[in-house]
Amino acid sequence: MDTPPWTVLRCAGCAQCFGRKAGTKGKCSRCGVFANDKTEIISHAANEQELQNEISLANVPEHLKSKLSEKMTSKPIASVREDDAYRLKKCLLSAAVDGIIRPENVVKSLAKMNITLRAADLIEMAYSQGLLLKLSEDEWQVLD
Ligand SMILES: [Zn+2]
Repeated sequence: MDTPPWTVLRCAGCAQCFGRKAGTKGKCSRCGVFANDKTEIISHAANEQELQNEISLANVPEHLKSKLSEKMTSKPIASVREDDAYRLKKCLLSAAVDGIIRPENVVKSLAKMNITLRAADLIEMAYSQGLLLKLSEDEWQVLD
């Protein structure tokens, strides 16, 4: 196999990802440290455009990445089971303050009940089931 023209490396010093052209030494674009034994190889790229994609992907902050995968692995609304629906409703109602639900309270309520669902999804679900009346972008009234 031919050596790929570009290698995406992660700087051992600052964790920034940068590209190295085959045959060159490679230097971190953020802190200027040269690639060394500790430099992690992330991926390879066949051309500069691919390299740019790889680098921007590799440089997505970890917390965003986990959010992204969380989003992708969170259960589709339709697959929530009946007993879950009861728990979710309880969770949602416990987030209400004077009959008004705000996302930040739902987040707390979800965490308290150890439910891995996004607040926005829960609200959306309740809204689509007619349990909530939307008052504004971040306020819902409990109709139940
Ligand atoms: Zn660096």
